Amino acid sequence: MENVPHLTALLKQLQQVPYLASKNLYRVAQYFLDLDAQRTDQFCKALREVKEHLVKCPTCWVWKERDNACSFCSSTRRDKKIVCVVETWQDVVIIEKAGGYHGVYHVLGGAICPLEGVGPDSLTITPLIDRVAQGCTEIIFALSQTPEGEATASYIASKVVQGINKDIKISCLARGLPVGASLEIMDRLTVFKALAERRPF
Ligand SMILES: [Zn+2]
Repeated sequence: MENVPHLTALLKQLQQVPYLASKNLYRVAQYFLDLDAQRTDQFCKALREVKEHLVKCPTCWVWKERDNACSFCSSTRRDKKIVCVVETWQDVVIIEKAGGYHGVYHVLGGAICPLEGVGPDSLTITPLIDRVAQGCTEIIFALSQTPEGEATASYIASKVVQGINKDIKISCLARGLPVGASLEIMDRLTVFKALAERRPF
């Protein structure tokens, strides 16, 4: 496509989008090419504005509007003493969709994975420990049931129990989630049941 440099430029941008399978690249490009000017502007505006207005909540690390309070941390209906620890904000969305959870969250930003250079300091573990120290009665680990997820939970649990509160209740999602799976691919009922039937860690 050497004679259509603008299309090449679009394809180049799309190629850098992770999770966009290369076989879908041209279909997505076609979608954008078919958009009328108004829809194109709306898309670009949404992208620009989300970059401008979204920040991570400094308490739970879920995305929030820069000018508004975090809807989880500021909610009076949520029990601030129960903290559900997840890897990504997408996991929060999934648990919320499953329903039935009324505590707050803590997004770690991933799981400990030394092979990929992700250590405890790359994640929001220190803020979590500080949060727990300020008075929290239960931690629920809703992490992927992978070696990395398990190692991350063990690391945090040892820090909390040794350093802060020996009597804290620590639980994790019930077995029943497929081993090696991330929350993202679960159906709502599976996540709901796994949370409701959580087991001692
Ligand atoms: Zn928050």
